[in-house]
This record gives sequence, structure tokens and C-alpha cells, in this order.
Amino acid sequence: MKTRLKPGSILSVGAALAVMLAAPALVGMYIPGAFMYIEPQGDLFFGAAQPAGAVVTEPIAATNEAEIEDEMPEELTVTVFSEKAGRVITLGLEEYITGVVAGEMPVSFGDEALKAQAVAARSYTMYRIAHGSENIPSHQGAQLCSDPKHCKAYVTREELAEKWGNETANNIFEKARASVEATRGQILTYEGEPALAVFHASSNRLTESAEAVWGRHVPYLVSVETPEETEPQVAVFTRGELADLLAPYGVKFSDTDLPQLEFDDAGRVAYVVFGETSVSGKDVREALGLRSTDFSLVILDGEYIFTVRGYGHGVGMSQYGAKAMAAEGKTYMEILAHYYPGTQITNIYGSP
Ligand SMILES: [Zn+2]
Repeated sequence: MKTRLKPGSILSVGAALAVMLAAPALVGMYIPGAFMYIEPQGDLFFGAAQPAGAVVTEPIAATNEAEIEDEMPEELTVTVFSEKAGRVITLGLEEYITGVVAGEMPVSFGDEALKAQAVAARSYTMYRIAHGSENIPSHQGAQLCSDPKHCKAYVTREELAEKWGNETANNIFEKARASVEATRGQILTYEGEPALAVFHASSNRLTESAEAVWGRHVPYLVSVETPEETEPQVAVFTRGELADLLAPYGVKFSDTDLPQLEFDDAGRVAYVVFGETSVSGKDVREALGLRSTDFSLVILDGEYIFTVRGYGHGVGMSQYGAKAMAAEGKTYMEILAHYYPGTQITNIYGSP
């Protein structure tokens, strides 16, 4: 079954919502380990898509339960290189996605946001698999890995229990599982192929395009409005510190050089020009440990003060934006249609 998604309408930010989200309420809240650090690294566009119809995953052998329940199509399995276990494990796709949702989004974000996260994670997973992720050397032959900096964060109930105690771990897992079950098999597709449904923690006003970050235009990864309020990060450097951190990028600048910021269409820093050298906003972000490329700079008493908005690369679904939309009463389909315009929801098991 295919459900046509309509492009999301422009969102208005209600005052109440603004107040609610003003402080991202991180204090005392369960934050998945990977949540604030998710960054796809480099090989996002790794490999070419396999020909349509190529079998990329194997159905699990029917269990007695599945035989009884004729209606339920067979689940796919995936292989994951677990860094913690130091070996490749085989999991049902839905079980894997449950661990990803638990690892990537606080369950307090709301049911519809969690469902959107489940579909985005499933889509991203199917995209990676379809693009030969098993050939990535660090995967040791597995289709995926548990490194949030590389694939997606994946946590088990046991790992959560070690960290948060049984009760919290069970609560997180039940909510994650419910979002996965409610969207079983659903992925985003674009022109019949799994969509590269990347996501990030938060953006200020506008998300970023894939083209601006990775240099490749992806029709459904374009800049769109996003409703969340973000708490700025303020980072202060002396000229000497800045010069040291940026030296690897060939930056040499004197006291009289005032860095100039050049912005892209989404209002993020495309380049910082230091005298005769210009460095991409992405490199400056990395060198200085800024949360995003959405920053401004003022120089005060010889100190370079960066004010940074949002968290992450800014491409695809904003998780805080999804939270805000869910709080506004939007469904997960509306959330996904907004952040991935032009995509469709398709069920990989061929049923709703
Ligand atoms: Zn990986």
C-alpha cells in the first residue's frame, strides 16, 4: 500500500509552544547517548543503489506464531556489527529499529514524533542496505553497525537498564516498540527507492539542504521551516585560540583581520573569510566544536564570541521540530511530509 504524502503546510509557531520549547528541557530527562552527537560521516552516498528487486535482506524463517498469524507478513532480518559485543548479530528489522528509536530520540517527545522517528530510521536503514553498506570495512561484513557516528545508535533494553534501571528501561522500550509496531514496515520512498531519511536534533527557523552540507542535491532533503525554539550555545575564543584551531585549514590572520561570514540560503554559515583564506562553515564548526553551522560572530574586547543555534547538520527531520509538531497535534505522516517533501510512505511488507 502506498500513501501519498502531501507537502506539509507552513507552520506557525504558537506562543505557547514557544514557551514550552524555550528551554529544551534537557535537565533530568532521559537523553539517549547518541542523541546530541548524531552526525553521518562521509560515506552517506556510499555505493550505487543495487538494481531494483535485488534481495538485500532475508526473511526470518516462519515461526509457529507467524504461521498461525497468516495476516502478518514475514519480517526481514538485518545484520549489525555490535561494537559492544565485538561481533555481528542478526536481528529482526523491527527489533533493530526499536533499539534505534530508543537510542536516538527521548521517548518524552510524543507518540507521533516517535513514529516519525521510527519511519525515518527504517527508511535510512533500508537506504544504507540498498546502497551496499555491508561492504563498508568497519562493518565486518554486517549491513549496519551500532556506532551512532557512523550508522545509527542502537541500544538494547539491557544496556538501558544498566544505565537507567529496569523501570525506566522498560518504559523507554515499550514506547519505542509501540512506535515501531504502529508503523511496522513503513519506509519513505522517493521514485520507488528507499529515501535517505537523515535527521538531526534541532534547527533554528529553517532546516538545511543536503546540497549545502554534502554537496549533493537530494530532492527531498531541502531547506524547510521548522517550528522549534532553540537554546543558543555561546562559545568564546581568544584570537590565539582561534588561530591555533584553524591553522590546519591554512588560516593565518592578524589582529586587524575581521573574519567575515558568508551565509547560504538557509541562513547558515557557508564560509568564514579570514583575511585571504576562506574556510567552510562546516570546517569551522568542526574545528571549534560548535553545535551547528548556524552561528553569528561578534568580536568584543579581543574575544571572538560565537552564538550558535540548533544542533547537528540540520538536514532532514529536526527531532525537536518533530516534537513541536506532535505537540501541535500533527500526525507522524504530516511530520514526515513536512521534513521530507515529495516522499511517499511505502510498506516493505506490501501491506498497510
Ligand atoms: Zn555503520
